[in-house]
Amino acid sequence: MSPPKLSNDCFALPQGVDWTPVPDALSRLRARLSPVTEVEHLPLIEAAGRVLADAPVALRSNPPQSNSAVDGYGFAFESLATAREISLLLLEGRAAAGAPLSGEIPPGHAVRILTGAILPPGVDTVVLQEDVEVAAGSVHFATGLKRGANCRKSGEDVDAGARVLAPGRRLQPQDLALCSALGIGELPVHRRLRVGVLSTGDEVVPPGAPVAPHQIHDANGPMLCAILARWGMEPVPLGIVGDTSDMVSAALDEGALSCDAILTSGGASAGDEDHVSAALRAADALHTWRIAIKPGRPLALGLWKGTPVFGLPGNPVAAFVCTLLFARPALHSLSGAGWRDPVAWRLPAAFTKRKKPGRQEYLRARCVDGSVEVFPSEGSGRISGLTWSDGLVRLPHEAIDIAPGDPVDYLPYSGFDLT
Ligand code: AMP
Ligand code: MG
Repeated sequence: MSPPKLSNDCFALPQGVDWTPVPDALSRLRARLSPVTEVEHLPLIEAAGRVLADAPVALRSNPPQSNSAVDGYGFAFESLATAREISLLLLEGRAAAGAPLSGEIPPGHAVRILTGAILPPGVDTVVLQEDVEVAAGSVHFATGLKRGANCRKSGEDVDAGARVLAPGRRLQPQDLALCSALGIGELPVHRRLRVGVLSTGDEVVPPGAPVAPHQIHDANGPMLCAILARWGMEPVPLGIVGDTSDMVSAALDEGALSCDAILTSGGASAGDEDHVSAALRAADALHTWRIAIKPGRPLALGLWKGTPVFGLPGNPVAAFVCTLLFARPALHSLSGAGWRDPVAWRLPAAFTKRKKPGRQEYLRARCVDGSVEVFPSEGSGRISGLTWSDGLVRLPHEAIDIAPGDPVDYLPYSGFDLT
């Protein structure tokens, strides 16, 4: 079954609103987006990193049978007398993982048992091999063991029939261990979200290409493709197009055929050379989001032949920040993983900053010895500040004066699923 289509007005902002505060912009996006990817069933081993579509049911318990947690000797707890020294008759045979013993172990007797072996009938307690002396066909050890010592009870971790892992979870390596242990060999997951990446600008050429003085290499395309891959999505490079509406439209047409969403960079403002906005406007699909944020200029959002387009600013720093803040939760929603807010830590500032009211500001930051430093320049073209930083500092919409030691919101890149 195909998931429902997005509605045409999913990117509409209320008329007359000038600069929309970041939280309002986010809650609007959040309310309008839903998963667009179909569900498929994958063998467990291929499901790592995919988004779970439904909570799997444990087909068996973990552990499935009560078993020994150590190498030692198993016996019935009731064999233990009150005497300080215990002596139990050692039976022939041994219980091992994968080689159970079926015979009953009568009280007063013990049997060799290895880690992972099912407890034979009659055994409910195990003494560690290092704690016993075996002599003359008997096992001797000191008392002090509790009933059930060194044993793992059937279902003590998870019971058969329990639902494990929530839908929307991106499957971690340890989730595969859990599912396999519970007898689950196949998982219902969302198809990977396919996201087109289009760079725009007459001046932009591919990485490593020969350049004239007026040209620059595409910084955004490789960055955005790599970010999408980190998020478990499938980046679809749509290349670089120049500043004409026709070229942008043709690239969006191509993207809409093969992608679930498209990220463009550059040309998203309302200037003469802003052809992403112009193309969306010509198709009557443009919603300009004037979001009160720095860095970032207006975002151009729209549905191009049913495919959501996120028109990011061209400046690499602004493109990066807007991708983390807006495209990330939106794309995760489309992918079935649900809306995700970034992780924020309150940490002391190691910098001074005075900020006017009226917009949120994001500074490239890094955490050193528990306090937060910021990159000396706020210039939106300073790409080196992105590699210098390991997170962002978020300054509130209101005016604020920050002095060293004041608590600030630090958002590590790891909380944006980048590391
Ligand atoms: P725009 O948003 O198109 O006005 O571009 C803003 C700035 O970002 C300009 O200096 C562009 O040259 C630069 N820019 C646009 N696209 C890219 C890109 N893909 N890689 C690096 N810089 C870019
Ligand atoms: Mg441009």
